[in-house]
Amino acid sequence: MARIHNLGFPRMGRQRQLKFALENYWRGEQPEQALLDQAKSIRHDNWECQAACDLVPVGEFSLYDHVLDMSFLLGNVPERFKLADSELDQYFRAARGRSAGDEQQSGVAAGEMTKWFDTNYHYIVPELSLATTFELRPEGLITQIEEAKARGLKPKPVIIGPVSYLWLCKTKDYSSRLALLHNLLPVYRELFALLENHGVQWVQVDEPILVHDINEHWKSALEKSYHSLKTKSLQVLLTTYFGSLQDNLQLACRLPVAGLHLDAIRARDEVQKVIDWLPAHKFLSLGVIDGRNIWKNDLNATLDWLEPIAEQLGERIWLAPSCSLLHVPVDLETEQKLHPEIRNWLSFALQKLAELQILKTALNQGRDAVRAALEDNKAAMASRRSSSKVCNPLVQAAVAKISPLLGKRSSAYAHRAAKQKALLGLPDFPTTTIGSFPQTAEIRRLRRAFKNKELDKASYLQAMRAEISRSVEQQEALGIDVLVHGEPERNDMVEYFGEQLKGFAFSENGWVQSYGSRCVKPPIIYGDISRSEAMTVEWIRFAQGLTEKPMKGMLTGPVTILNWSFVRDDQPREKTCYQLALAVREEVQDLERAGVAIIQIDEAALREGLPLRKSQWQHYLKWAVESFRICANGVRDETQIHTHMCYSEFNDIIEAIARMDADVITIETSRSQMELLDVFEDYNYPNDIGPGVYDIHSPNIPTVEQMVSLMQQAAERIPRERLWVNPDCGLKTRRWEEVLPALKNMVAAAQQLRASVA
Ligand code: GLN
Ligand code: ZN
Repeated sequence: MARIHNLGFPRMGRQRQLKFALENYWRGEQPEQALLDQAKSIRHDNWECQAACDLVPVGEFSLYDHVLDMSFLLGNVPERFKLADSELDQYFRAARGRSAGDEQQSGVAAGEMTKWFDTNYHYIVPELSLATTFELRPEGLITQIEEAKARGLKPKPVIIGPVSYLWLCKTKDYSSRLALLHNLLPVYRELFALLENHGVQWVQVDEPILVHDINEHWKSALEKSYHSLKTKSLQVLLTTYFGSLQDNLQLACRLPVAGLHLDAIRARDEVQKVIDWLPAHKFLSLGVIDGRNIWKNDLNATLDWLEPIAEQLGERIWLAPSCSLLHVPVDLETEQKLHPEIRNWLSFALQKLAELQILKTALNQGRDAVRAALEDNKAAMASRRSSSKVCNPLVQAAVAKISPLLGKRSSAYAHRAAKQKALLGLPDFPTTTIGSFPQTAEIRRLRRAFKNKELDKASYLQAMRAEISRSVEQQEALGIDVLVHGEPERNDMVEYFGEQLKGFAFSENGWVQSYGSRCVKPPIIYGDISRSEAMTVEWIRFAQGLTEKPMKGMLTGPVTILNWSFVRDDQPREKTCYQLALAVREEVQDLERAGVAIIQIDEAALREGLPLRKSQWQHYLKWAVESFRICANGVRDETQIHTHMCYSEFNDIIEAIARMDADVITIETSRSQMELLDVFEDYNYPNDIGPGVYDIHSPNIPTVEQMVSLMQQAAERIPRERLWVNPDCGLKTRRWEEVLPALKNMVAAAQQLRASVA
């Protein structure tokens, strides 16, 4: 008998109720109780949706972030948050910080935020210091367990295992995070005993680091932890996801727990080996439904593969999604505008749970018991395979014809740089910005009105052009050297291009949590990608017409479009990326033909596409860099290519960055005091660099002195003739009142730097 369970459910609610409740509460427009009631109602609704599962996850719901919840459960709350009156207040201080001045208090810095493995979800990094103590705070979790029990469900609490928890932490005080394992384990023991007392049968203990490259210390920490956490009746499901176990496989099979969960989407080829190594008394949970993507499962194919495995495992098999469904939208039923043919290929969280149920019935009662559902599924798969919407032979042929020459510029950088210098006539320390200017409420209103057909095209164009003109005037007045049009017409740097390319679809409600109350709606790449007409040329041409100064053409690169979308799973990702590269290449060349001398291609998300395992990095970097080169490098020597990346870790990837061969790269640096330029210096990075001097994530206005000092630090590492002066990233989230004085100071800083000839 196969049984099914779920690892986690989206938290925002079908209509993103949690988002709105949170934001109302933060603005002080709603009392705490209203927020808690809303959260409870979403939780119960979620359980309702999972009622058919033999075990339902509990405690993975979160008001902000499940890693932060875990820190609170373990009582790991840094002192600076403890001053708050209520626990909820402490929690939100840790999540969001508090700016100075509120209630005449001094500011409190929020916990740092970073990406959850290779997803686009961000968690609050737990802090470890010499002052760290652990103390179980189980009330919240226990309440939820009792709530689930009261509804007649079998709760399976979800927690992060001790070793992965420490792995996720940051510490300045300890040389190894593992130094605290000893203090941490008693709290887990106490928790497990408590769960046992509350009649919990299974607890899901996530140890995703088992799919990572971990050294012997971490391996033995796992061994030690699970030996010391042995339980009487409580059964531990050791849960891994996002990849294969590889050299950790035998360890994972050996740990003294009742069951193991494996991501059978990404680690399909390890399943048999795990069965071979897993002791005969242990359960195996197979994540057979993709929790990271939105495609329907090919149920017949899954059953062909699964039936003999289920036979082998007998009572010991559990089926589940590959990982928490946190990473997919809630319900496809709410999508009314998707083309019916495409919609029929998709599956969101609720549909994935239904698929799981079909698999269970088919395994337990035979396929005939779900014949109709299997036939429907087969038809959907066939329609996707043969649809003319998916396959475009011209695009396939163009990708097959790609040669390395496409990605090669005709001359080396030094030669190009001389020609560009002659053409552009820029001063030393040229100033520029990253692309967007403040997206005011008025701009958003206009875009929405146009989208909803309440505003006609001519009026929309006129309004946007007026906005661009204002931005250009401001930049002229500030004395910036290389201008931008400001991107008022763009809702989002990926969606804007996706909407104009063939092969993309957009959901209305396909929201996925990015962090806290923030959600993103990733485009869906379902078919071969092509560009029917220029996407940006008219806007840039208009903007260029307003000024004598160079105007940058502004594009999003292929790797970033790929990494921020739901990508088709019926061909390798790199092939889809090459298709994007060819489409963006056409745009680059159209811009060049329109006389645009500088083209910036943003690759904000190149780094986050890195696979979890280092052994796979080179392969990814190879096609990611090649894609960028294909899109960017088919231009004349005189055309200057910029790229922009908004992060600050280049240590492991500097060689790949250099291979992209952009003439100028702008990066985020202001917070790291230019330290990250060390790697550019050590590598002798050959091309121009614009290290950000204005931290756009903060409302603070940097002074001239601060920016001069940052650039001087930069000039100690990079020859001054190759330095640009610019902010860390685009300015769309800032207000003009902040941006204007900051940029004024930035221009003044550049003037001072020019005057101080080295
Ligand atoms: N050109 C984009 C902007 O300025 C870049 C955004 C980003 O890097 N995230 O908004
Ligand atoms: Zn950026």
